[in-house]
Amino acid sequence: METAIAGAGPTGLFTAIALARRGHRVTVVDRDGGPAADGSWPRRGVMQFHHPHGVRQQVVDALEAEMPDVRDALAAAGAETSIVPAANGRPAMAIGLRCRRSLLERVLREAALAQDGVTLVRGHVDDVLRSRGRAAGLRVDGRELRAGLVVNASGRAGHLADDLRAPGESADCGLAYVSRHYALRPGAEPGPVNNPIGLMSRFPGYLAAVFLQDDRTVSVLIARLSSDRELAGLRAPAAFEAAVRLVPGLDAWTAPARSEPISPVLPGGHLHNSYRGQRDERGRVGLPGLVHLGDTVCTTNPTGGRGIATSLLQTRRFVRALGTDAEAATLELDAWCAERIRPWFDDHRAWDRDQVRQLAGEDVDLDRPLTSGHIVAAAERDPSLMRVVGPYLSMTALPATLAEVEPAARAMYASGWRPPVPDGPSRDDLAALVRRTVAVTV
Ligand SMILES: Cc1cc2nc3c(=O)[nH]c(=O)nc-3n(C[C@H](O)[C@H](O)[C@H](O)COP(=O)(O)OP(=O)(O)OC[C@H]3O[C@@H](n4cnc5c(N)ncnc54)[C@H](O)[C@@H]3O)c2cc1C
Repeated sequence: METAIAGAGPTGLFTAIALARRGHRVTVVDRDGGPAADGSWPRRGVMQFHHPHGVRQQVVDALEAEMPDVRDALAAAGAETSIVPAANGRPAMAIGLRCRRSLLERVLREAALAQDGVTLVRGHVDDVLRSRGRAAGLRVDGRELRAGLVVNASGRAGHLADDLRAPGESADCGLAYVSRHYALRPGAEPGPVNNPIGLMSRFPGYLAAVFLQDDRTVSVLIARLSSDRELAGLRAPAAFEAAVRLVPGLDAWTAPARSEPISPVLPGGHLHNSYRGQRDERGRVGLPGLVHLGDTVCTTNPTGGRGIATSLLQTRRFVRALGTDAEAATLELDAWCAERIRPWFDDHRAWDRDQVRQLAGEDVDLDRPLTSGHIVAAAERDPSLMRVVGPYLSMTALPATLAEVEPAARAMYASGWRPPVPDGPSRDDLAALVRRTVAVTV
């Protein structure tokens, strides 16, 4: 079948290769032309492209199932397996890849370019073509690209075919990113870690993290409340560098003797959780032959590192369900997403509300069921909770499974216990540092 895909991000590229290997002739259209001859790739319009990414095992499993050669190519390009060591009778477990987002996309893009049956086209998708009540292709820069199956993989900010679906639900994450990539110097030892992804600490008023990536690189992140205008000043390189020197953990990773910056300081855009199904206001597939995949269906707080996993889980489901009846496969996907993907949106919406309150200095609210973040924090104190919390963290069990240990976690909070706050500068300290740095550099 002729298939047209709007968007050559992870979802569009993965879908294209998977469908081509099932006999489709696929054209993928993206306004981005790919990496420049010198290897640079600004990737305008995809603000997260250069921000830290954790790549979960679900992504590796999807590659393994549909395109093991791409998984091998990632490993050959420097992506490393993240492993949780054996503990309490549980064997060691692979939980994903240490890999820059840019590397993942480069490798997927190269695989798509080399794939028989896939064509990549640069252009702006204006709309979905409609004919006799079915999708008939894409309008690209005013020209028609005819196809019997159309995939909308245009990402979190896309408005493509907005009129063909009922409005989605959305909630602010309440956080904003500022990050920078560093490379370890030759022979330098890695810095401290406190989890398999790298380092994650919650300080009063902000989060600090180091993501281990490929090829001895790390991405260093400070996530502030999006309402915190003063900490927005961390986007100034002098302020960011001064801040990371002050924050325990970040200071060790970014010490000039250990590593050097290899990217500009990257401010992040607006972050939200969103969910939108396939159906229109009447509850029917808006346009038979059109399916929405990836971030166009679900986006979640990036600090959870779930976006590419939820995207490829959807795509795997769809390509497997797709027989001759695209509408039936779309309905099947919609029902499956409501059951298996939407819970991650609901979970983040509740977790984020609490996280914002917590970062703003408020105490846990014991008048309501504990949200996942509080239960996960309690498991750090009482490892017996990990029996339930571990599968949730690795996304092999849905958020609702945490209900089993909620009473035990609640009892800990009710007794007066609170997660320890690491030593380090407060939000006010960082704000003062931003003011000082800006005053010196103006
Ligand atoms: C700051 C941040 C950090 C994140 N961290 C993580 C993480 O650690 N782990 C994780 O798994 N996920 C993370 N995510 C989520 C992850 O990046 C997304 O889930 C992922 O990008 C979804 O891929 P996609 O292909 O669906 O959309 P995108 O990657 O957004 O790709 C959409 C593509 O469509 C193209 N496009 C859009 N409109 C048009 C048009 N009209 N015409 C032509 N082309 C168009 C764009 O150019 C783009 O190439 C993060 C997200 C953010 C914002």
